[in-house]
Amino acid sequence: MKTDEIKSLTEAHIINTYGARNIAFVRGKGTSLWDAEGNEYLDFFGGIAVTALGHCHPKVTDAITKQAATLVHVSNLYLTQPCAELADLLSKHSFADRWFFSNCGATAIEASIKLARRYWSQQGTLKPTIISMQQSFHGRTMAAITATGQPKYHEGFAPMLPGIVHVPFNDHAALMKALTDDVGAVLLEPIQGEGGIRVVDTEYIKSVRALCDARNILLIFDEIQCGMGRTGTLFAHEQFGVTPDIITLAKALANGMPIGAMGCTEKVASGFSVGSHASTFGGNPVCTAAAKATVEAMLEPGFLDNVKKVGAYFIEKLNGLKSRHANIVEVRGNGLLIGVEMKEPVAPVIAKMLEARIVCGPAGPNVLRFAPPLIITNGQVDHVVATLDKVLGAS
Ligand SMILES: *Cc1c(COP(=O)(O)O)cnc(C)c1O
Repeated sequence: MKTDEIKSLTEAHIINTYGARNIAFVRGKGTSLWDAEGNEYLDFFGGIAVTALGHCHPKVTDAITKQAATLVHVSNLYLTQPCAELADLLSKHSFADRWFFSNCGATAIEASIKLARRYWSQQGTLKPTIISMQQSFHGRTMAAITATGQPKYHEGFAPMLPGIVHVPFNDHAALMKALTDDVGAVLLEPIQGEGGIRVVDTEYIKSVRALCDARNILLIFDEIQCGMGRTGTLFAHEQFGVTPDIITLAKALANGMPIGAMGCTEKVASGFSVGSHASTFGGNPVCTAAAKATVEAMLEPGFLDNVKKVGAYFIEKLNGLKSRHANIVEVRGNGLLIGVEMKEPVAPVIAKMLEARIVCGPAGPNVLRFAPPLIITNGQVDHVVATLDKVLGAS
């Protein structure tokens, strides 16, 4: 099928929540994508921070095809090896002792909110209130949009879930002011993704941890976007020297196969018992086999170091552009999660980058987002920055 045909079928039958789309990608390999007309693109968006190892990584493809030919699904009424092995691998490389697997980011967030509330209810102290951050993003199910601190995502969906309040990000005094006796958890992204690539202050995240310890509150880190190697450590929180009680993962966890995960300490896991939470597809053998292959590839020597090096190089080059283009407000990020805040909407810039066969995306109206596969090279960074330089010069 050519793009026109794919477009007309899509526009006839898909509910229009994504707006007009004019490119149909049909194949990917490493950092390259090809459209239905055979044009090659350099992918600096990674399917929104998902294809961290690059498209169709051979080890992940191998794990998927082997598992797909062996056993695709049996339900959580039975044990399966890929799910057990993934939980073991993630536990060995994180603070978490126990995991619940779901199907996407939003369902990992749902699990974390349910676990936090049930943990305190099991302890006999009702502390259902959750403090979340303004400008955050946690997904599109009802609890997840309620937790999301951006009113535009709430429009028309009222009433929101009771018991979730929002405070300004990186503002300790505001957090203190919002603290009531019924607060059971604080939820935050160590790097806000959709909200505009805003990195948490180290002092702030440390003070939130100390506050949660002092006041007996659970700390939940949403690392759905900033986790899984994106900042050059397996998890973003490792960079701040602060550990949560609960973590949520998704996006890059299986390099493109749909999966979500919630990890927590042994103690907090006691909040759930038999029957208190479940998912038909959660922990699916094909998705967990893909995730295991993905995590193993990320842990290979040198892989994460390269993310730090290329990420620092990219940010340095973008800051160089900033000195020459007055419409760049700020370059923000860590590793290969990078935002370029502009004075005006970035949609025209993204369109011109696509014309030059480079894929990038927005993080809110005025922020250009780069979340490329973690295997990009300095040479590719040079090409993207030079192209952006031309695009900004022309606009
Ligand atoms: C993408 C994202 C989600 C939601 O994930 P879905 O898989 O789209 O449900 C939640 N939190 C953060 C930080 C995200 O970036």
